[in-house]
Amino acid sequence: MALNFHKFEKDIKTNAARSYGLSVFALPQFIHAALANIMNLTLKLIKTTSLLISTICLFLLIISNKTGERGMIVIILIPLIIIFFSIFFLASRKLKKEEIKGTEILSPELIDYIYKYHQGFFNNIENKAMNHYVTKMKFKNYENNIPPEFKKLITDDKKALGLLKKGYKRFVKNTAERIYKEHRKELNLNLCPKCNKIARTPQAKQCRFCSYDWH
Ligand SMILES: [Zn+2]
Repeated sequence: MALNFHKFEKDIKTNAARSYGLSVFALPQFIHAALANIMNLTLKLIKTTSLLISTICLFLLIISNKTGERGMIVIILIPLIIIFFSIFFLASRKLKKEEIKGTEILSPELIDYIYKYHQGFFNNIENKAMNHYVTKMKFKNYENNIPPEFKKLITDDKKALGLLKKGYKRFVKNTAERIYKEHRKELNLNLCPKCNKIARTPQAKQCRFCSYDWH
């Protein structure tokens, strides 16, 4: 059971604009994505290099043991193996985190679009949270006069309220990101044929970013 959300479109837009900053400027988002890519590449390079160095050191250590040449070589090699293997381990961990973060970089416009037009992918708890928030907003000034059909949309489900704990805009972002991650291929994303950015609505035939018209 979901409320007709289009009535609250204006409210969502204001909220979205407030939470994501000036959404008309795609540049900061682009820079953010580029930095994440550079970071990922650098980490991959560090990871590969440190693994290579520690493997070579280990190989040299084994050889030196076999030939009986110990002393200085072992004293130098063991710390090197430890240091470079630690670097490899840390880089791998950081890379995993960055890669997860990388998949979550959605533009504010895409977040808005997914949240508004793909509510069919909302799970039970997300539906409860959205209905709760919308009802609360709608009857903000009439808390004691909420009609029963709306009153039942107000929830005390801890999980649903938990989703709203950090604010509505955060809930919108998290929900859109989850849907994008889990249903990316099923989403009907109306992308501009020219610049590949998201259109304002699923029916739109003109791009808000580059003004390209595909009527
Ligand atoms: Zn475009």
